[in-house]
Amino acid sequence: MQKLRTIKGTHDILPWDIHKWQKIESVLRDVFASYVCKEIRTPVFESTNLFSRGVGEFSDIVSKEMYSFQDKGGDSLTLRPELTASVARSYIQHNYQQESPLHKLWYFGPLFRQERPQAGRQRQFYQYGIELIGSPFPEADAEAIDIACSVYRKLGLKNWELHINSIGSIEARKVYMEVLRDSLKAHKGELCETCQDRYDGNILRLFDCKNPGCQEVMKEHAPSILDHLSEEDKQHFEQVKKLLDAAGIDYTINPALVRGLDYYTRTTFEIKGTALGAQDALCGGGRYDKLISDLDGPDTPAVGFAAGVERLVIAMEAEELFNADQSFVDLYIAPMDIACLEGISPLVHSLRDKGFRVHLELMRRSVKAMMRDANRQNARWVAVVGEQELQSGNLRLKNMQENIQQEINLNEIENILKK
Ligand code: AMP
Repeated sequence: MQKLRTIKGTHDILPWDIHKWQKIESVLRDVFASYVCKEIRTPVFESTNLFSRGVGEFSDIVSKEMYSFQDKGGDSLTLRPELTASVARSYIQHNYQQESPLHKLWYFGPLFRQERPQAGRQRQFYQYGIELIGSPFPEADAEAIDIACSVYRKLGLKNWELHINSIGSIEARKVYMEVLRDSLKAHKGELCETCQDRYDGNILRLFDCKNPGCQEVMKEHAPSILDHLSEEDKQHFEQVKKLLDAAGIDYTINPALVRGLDYYTRTTFEIKGTALGAQDALCGGGRYDKLISDLDGPDTPAVGFAAGVERLVIAMEAEELFNADQSFVDLYIAPMDIACLEGISPLVHSLRDKGFRVHLELMRRSVKAMMRDANRQNARWVAVVGEQELQSGNLRLKNMQENIQQEINLNEIENILKK
């Protein structure tokens, strides 16, 4: 019989690795709180047409990567492949604009895409992200980028760089796409098959192709989108750059950074891990002024980013940024038998109620084996509980770090543990 295993492209986050994730999550919470952003949690599955309309029919995500299924009522549902569309849906559904003109939101959760799995690319993976909804101004773009960078700085990550670009307003981009088509016309035959298809559809996607031949054609013959921005687009981008300079954030301007999703306008940005290999994108984002109105919501400008957690864990491991698991036990209770376990139960209960971390032996091990286990669990104190201790009300407490033993009355234990 076949062994039961995780599905290809999915993984367990194991109990002995969880401290890494918890460290990241705790820094994220602190960073987001310092920018006064509020958390939003949306369902893991949504109507399929939220994503086909929100992300775009021709994007890789919608055209080939979605986990879609029909439920028993015949509705087409999809495990969310990204979170911006879900946040936009929530914004519209609950009339956020009536609460306040600006919403600064953050999220953390699993996403699902049927991609070819490899190091740093899973079919279920986690993202955290930010959506700043309501402001059309460059200060919102700069703030989103600033938040994204702060996370890596706070975590102590060194090997990353920020790339920024502007892909202009929808109108300017339409004009640019025609200019691009003209410039590449004579070289269409040199492009890979996929890019030849993209040439007639969303030609901007040619910039995303990893094929060296296509990259060469683009480098030689593609005009820069930055030369085709409207005056307003240019001013917006200049102001974003000035604000990043003022915040002391280094960046590279990368006119080839157009991003895979259809909904972006003006600013786009990406943070690359410089020691990550093929899957080097840590974080991607940009402005999406038309998404909410495209989903039948009010005309609402917005900017945000999404960042992968698995890749961040890989990058932090490579830079040795995780300490060993710091979890510990305040008091390890080692009862001699089940009657002693019963007898000590009220104390265990009351200490746990007060927030102490108390491990109660559940394996009926020998005292020697319990001591070994207490060491392994990084216990600060161990109490061996026998009949005599219960009768006298005095427990023998062993301090595991200093290897000394003290006799302590039951009523005093709390004070000892507090020290
Ligand atoms: P995207 O939503 O495609 O802009 O991706 C944003 C970030 O999510 C990327 O920069 C990656 O860090 C991460 N990411 C995207 N797809 C995957 C995947 N299949 N597996 C792991 N991380 C991913």
